[in-house]
Amino acid sequence: MNPARQAYRAYSPRPVTREERDHVEILFGGLHWRAEKVIQAVFENLGYRARPLPAATKSDLLLGRELADIGQCCPTSFTTGNLANFLRTEAKRIGPERVADKYVYVTAGACGACRFGQYHQSYELALRNLGLDAFRMFLIEQNKLDQGPLHGGGLEFNMPLTLGCVWAILCTDALQGLEYRTRPYEVVRGKTDEAVRESVDYLCDVFRNRPHKGRKWRTLAWHLSTDYFVKALREVFRKFQAIEVDRLQPKPIVKLTGEFYLQTVEGDPNYNIHRWLEAEGAEVYPAPIVTWLDYLFRVYVQQLEEYVGVDRYAPVKLAGVRSLQRLYGWTYGRMRAALADIPHEIPDQYELRRLAAPYFHHRLSGGEGDMLVGKALWAHLHKKAHMICELSPYACMPNTMSIGAMAGVVGKYPDLLYAPLEIKGDAEVHALSRCQMILTEAKKQAQSEFEEALSKSGLTMRAAQSRLDERPHMKKATYRVPHRGRVGTAANLLAHLA
Ligand code: SF4
Repeated sequence: MNPARQAYRAYSPRPVTREERDHVEILFGGLHWRAEKVIQAVFENLGYRARPLPAATKSDLLLGRELADIGQCCPTSFTTGNLANFLRTEAKRIGPERVADKYVYVTAGACGACRFGQYHQSYELALRNLGLDAFRMFLIEQNKLDQGPLHGGGLEFNMPLTLGCVWAILCTDALQGLEYRTRPYEVVRGKTDEAVRESVDYLCDVFRNRPHKGRKWRTLAWHLSTDYFVKALREVFRKFQAIEVDRLQPKPIVKLTGEFYLQTVEGDPNYNIHRWLEAEGAEVYPAPIVTWLDYLFRVYVQQLEEYVGVDRYAPVKLAGVRSLQRLYGWTYGRMRAALADIPHEIPDQYELRRLAAPYFHHRLSGGEGDMLVGKALWAHLHKKAHMICELSPYACMPNTMSIGAMAGVVGKYPDLLYAPLEIKGDAEVHALSRCQMILTEAKKQAQSEFEEALSKSGLTMRAAQSRLDERPHMKKATYRVPHRGRVGTAANLLAHLA
């Protein structure tokens, strides 16, 4: 038949059977490296073989554009090219047939208002263009705890797997929070990275040996009530104890926000912005994945709120989801407490909604929705950051909308330092120099805040330093500097010392 007249057929992968479990390797990616490594251990704990894809690079971006759609948003090009590059290399090594048998790819999907609902189509097109049509790729829903076995039964997205992944994210986000509050101030360079590497390896062992506690609600009850993970994080905390820090250096705190993929990964897709900002003298406030999962609860709550008065069961369901959301927040609170509350807290979703409401409707979905506006205002009003750096992908519809809405926010709060960066993946100088302009202002703010704190404290720098020297426990990475109404760590420390 003339291909132009052929009816559209949705992609449908060959099944993965239980017998294949021992030799099929599950590929996945798109998160920060700490979470990916520990999620690999979660798969292993349940008898699967799995591995995260290598960190995405610029050559992945170019291949993604070449194989799929050149006009697509840059996270789609990066992730498509990342998978395609890996499979192409493997196909050269072991042949396309073995690649199709040896690997499967699992990714989250949604029917979003944006391209997130079409990622798998880009992958499919890329695979076809590579001659790897037989390769199997599975889409899992990001908001379901139990999705049962996938086609063929060899892969089961059940509660033990989903909860393992969620707890891996909770633990590694908390670790990431501690890491980013330590590294800018470490006295001996490299000590924080060393502790993080050791901690991730240790957490991998913890998750690989996670006890099996049933398949349904019993395992949820166990995850919520156990101190297995809290104890593991206490052990992680001990690894940070030996790191000496000098927090009397005024540094601007830069809160990263933006599109999920770009704010989460650390590497070429966002021009290595985390490391770049640190090298420029900033303290980075990273974007934890836990906030996104919390947002998914809110989305569900919002849907249910609209059914109250229409569906008689809606109030009960609403109460149930709200309780689950509170339990989720409480669980992350336990993880933070194991690390002396040094990692940043997750903002209250309903406060974010309220803050963003005058500028962005909460039911506009796609991307991070109203969260970008809400988070920028939250960080500014609660004195959590000197500057907001929003990583906005090229050709991203939701981010373009929130940047537009932020014009209204900045008009009302002119002292909110906001740097929206368009990320194309290959225009690094342009994006980073734009960031640098706002960062210069943030540095000035951090410096003047520090000087003001110094004069209010009645201390000289030398006196502050000697007070600190008299209290060696305060020079450890594991000492928490309380928030004393200032933004910067150094200014808060001065107020605390005084
Ligand atoms: S949020 Fe933006 S960048 Fe992310 S998938 Fe949607 S359109 Fe693409």
